[in-house]
Amino acid sequence: MKIPSLPQLAEQAAAPLEAIASPPRVAILLSIGRGEACVCHLEALLGWRQAYISQHLMALRKAGLLLDRREGRYVFYRLKDAALLDLVLASARLGGLSAETISALSEMRPSPACECPQCTPTLIRAESLKTV
Ligand SMILES: [Zn+2]
Repeated sequence: MKIPSLPQLAEQAAAPLEAIASPPRVAILLSIGRGEACVCHLEALLGWRQAYISQHLMALRKAGLLLDRREGRYVFYRLKDAALLDLVLASARLGGLSAETISALSEMRPSPACECPQCTPTLIRAESLKTV
């Protein structure tokens, strides 16, 4: 069996870093965090156009870093591997953010401007009562 050379291994090891190495993508990954988020949620949270967010979500999905799940009219994105969040948080630390800021960054934030089921959980409850 041929062992890949260090440059070959490095290319594979660098692929996730390359895929996430831009502030908008880091912001999206932090917004998704340990949970999941739909495009409308990211739109409300980040204040960017949907097309712009979708473009980055597609790139992250293509890189094999995100998974998606459809629920009614919502598509929820989540990290394929929690290690990705650790990687982003490690980068935040190297970038000089304080431990307090980093811990706040890794928490899920509902947005008052968003109507997705995560931000308005009462909607989920009412709907699930009807279907049971
Ligand atoms: Zn939401």
